[in-house]
Amino acid sequence: MKKNTYDIAIVGGGIIGLSTALQITNTYPDLRLIVLEKEQDLGLHQSSRNSGVIHSGIYYRPDSMKAKTCVSGARKMIEFAQEHNINYEICGKVIVATNEIQIPRLEELYKRAKANGVKGIEMIAKEELLEKEPHAKGIKALWVPSTGIIDYPGVLKAYAKLFLEKDQEIKLNQNIKKIQIKKNQIFINSDHGEFSSSYLINCAGLYADRIASLAGAKLPVKIVPFRGEYYQIKPSRENLVNGLIYPVPDPAFPFLGVHFTKRIDGTVEAGPNAVLAFAREGYKKSNLNFKDLMETITYGGFLKLARKYWKVGMGEMYRSLSKKAFTKALQELLPEIQEDDLIDGGSGVRAQAIDRNGKLIDDFSIIHTERALHVCNAPSPGATSSIAIGETITSMLKESFPNLRR
Ligand SMILES: Cc1cc2nc3c(=O)[nH]c(=O)nc-3n(C[C@H](O)[C@H](O)[C@H](O)COP(=O)(O)OP(=O)(O)OC[C@H]3O[C@@H](n4cnc5c(N)ncnc54)[C@H](O)[C@@H]3O)c2cc1C
Repeated sequence: MKKNTYDIAIVGGGIIGLSTALQITNTYPDLRLIVLEKEQDLGLHQSSRNSGVIHSGIYYRPDSMKAKTCVSGARKMIEFAQEHNINYEICGKVIVATNEIQIPRLEELYKRAKANGVKGIEMIAKEELLEKEPHAKGIKALWVPSTGIIDYPGVLKAYAKLFLEKDQEIKLNQNIKKIQIKKNQIFINSDHGEFSSSYLINCAGLYADRIASLAGAKLPVKIVPFRGEYYQIKPSRENLVNGLIYPVPDPAFPFLGVHFTKRIDGTVEAGPNAVLAFAREGYKKSNLNFKDLMETITYGGFLKLARKYWKVGMGEMYRSLSKKAFTKALQELLPEIQEDDLIDGGSGVRAQAIDRNGKLIDDFSIIHTERALHVCNAPSPGATSSIAIGETITSMLKESFPNLRR
């Protein structure tokens, strides 16, 4: 085979791209694969800027891909961590109802979790909640003992190491700018190299729609970036949180609401909120990319969404700008937390697909076009589900690419 010519090129060296690469090479060891990543290192975006939680599969519609891949993915993730010595802890989580209105929604979550096959969940009263989280305020809670925390950057490095050990390739600093499909071959150009492959898998996260469009695909969605900002709880107040304390989420949104998360390094974080980012990789409030912003605010789907949810959006913006307001939201769950207890933390940007009607796409979405598969929506619990998503894509290959050499 010629140099720089591959059976499958995967664009994006995040946790989904690398898991997919590893699963394909495990199943089809004779195929020649390459992962092309624009940054100088792997996994610098969503995959290392997240809450680090191994989700259990509570929230998702029972027939959804999220439900299926999260429940099985969490189990596979724990087995993987054990096998490859990756730091993780099953600390359990509580989802806390703070008022009567939230109780039917909490009960609905309990039913969903049962339908999804999540093990060990219990509806607990205030007294039991206080045994688990003595500083939390709530009238009832859902106890999810199987939820955990993990070092996702460590997981991603292990995927990459195993993939490279199979004599496959990863090329960094390859910002893909041009993709042409000619007969049976795809020509992929970055500013530093030229590659060709028979098939393409697009795992470009925040740029998945742009990569799809370069490949000539007309996706029914666009990626809109939503920044999630965290505060860290100062070390002397970390004792306020034992594990993971979550609110009852608003069913109208795919985001879970600000919560308290113990991290695998022992620190405790509060967040993330969800504010529109003015750049796809806009990790700071001040980051603005004119092209990204114009693309968002001129997109009909976003305008429809904004018309419907402008009040919620403004509330999130206000809490982003006012630490006092952010603290107030946190006090709903943990009344003792004070503004002084919070130190500026990190942030992440979610790649959220929105359709032309202004609907936030809830489930994972993988779209097949000529010679390509595009992972168009892989928000939370994408990291938990990464092994299962990689397996799903691998099992789609036969049908999507019937002439795949093996
Ligand atoms: C704030 C936040 C909290 C979250 N919390 C959790 C959690 O607790 N648990 C959980 O399971 N999930 C969580 N998630 C979701 C999870 O992080 C994502 O589902 C997952 O990381 C998606 O991985 P990815 O590989 O698709 O994307 P990414 O990690 O963003 O990777 C995409 C890669 O593509 C590369 N790329 C983009 N454009 C190009 C180009 N033109 N050329 C070459 N390369 C390109 C990027 O540089 C990047 O490395 C969270 C996400 C966020 C943002």
